[in-house]
Amino acid sequence: MDDALSAPTRLWTPSRVLITRSASELPHTAEIVRRCEAAGVTDIDVLPGDRLTGLRGETERETYARAKTTLAVVVAPPSVLKPQPIPPSADWRIDLAKGCPAHCQYCYLAGSLSGPPITRVFANLDDVLAGIGTHAGRGTITSGTEERGHEGTTFELSCYTDPLGIEHVTGSLAEAVRRVGAATVGQRR
Ligand code: SF4
Repeated sequence: MDDALSAPTRLWTPSRVLITRSASELPHTAEIVRRCEAAGVTDIDVLPGDRLTGLRGETERETYARAKTTLAVVVAPPSVLKPQPIPPSADWRIDLAKGCPAHCQYCYLAGSLSGPPITRVFANLDDVLAGIGTHAGRGTITSGTEERGHEGTTFELSCYTDPLGIEHVTGSLAEAVRRVGAATVGQRR
C-alpha cells in the first residue's frame, strides 16, 4: 500500500488560538476554549479588538505556516447569516467556519480566500444556526422536488472549511446536526 495511504491519521490541533473581543463574550467561545485546552493548546489570546492581528511572518512561507496552525474565533458578519441555496448539493448552505487547516493542493479555497489562510470559526453559533429553524421545509434543490424530495430539506454545513477536521476543537457541527434533526423531524413522515 502507498505510504501516504497507510500513514496514521492525526487530528489537527492549532498551535495558537486568537479570540476577537466581541467573540470572547459569547457562550460558544467558552466551549471552543474548553475543547482547545483539552486538546493541549496553551497559546490562547483574547485580542483587544475585533481585528485579527499578528498573522504575518517574515516571509510568505512563514505567514502561510503560521496561518495554517492558527484558529481564530470571530463573530460571523450579517452577510454570512442568511442561508443561501447551494445547488446541486443542498437546499441551504450554512457556514460554521471559513478557512481550513488542511493543505490540499486541489482545493478551491487556495484561490478563493484572500489574506493569510487562517481558519476562522464563528462564535455566534445561535445566529449562524438560526437559519435551520427558519428554512426547514423550504428550498428548491431537494425539498419538494420529484427526484430528491425524499431527502427532505438539506443543509450543507460549510462551503469554505472542512467542518469535521476542526470539530474536536469547535463542537459547532454536532450542534448544527442536532438542530437540523430537531427542525426536520417529522417532515418526511
Ligand atoms: S476544505 Fe477540504 S479539500 Fe479544502 S483544504 Fe480543507 S480538507 Fe482539503
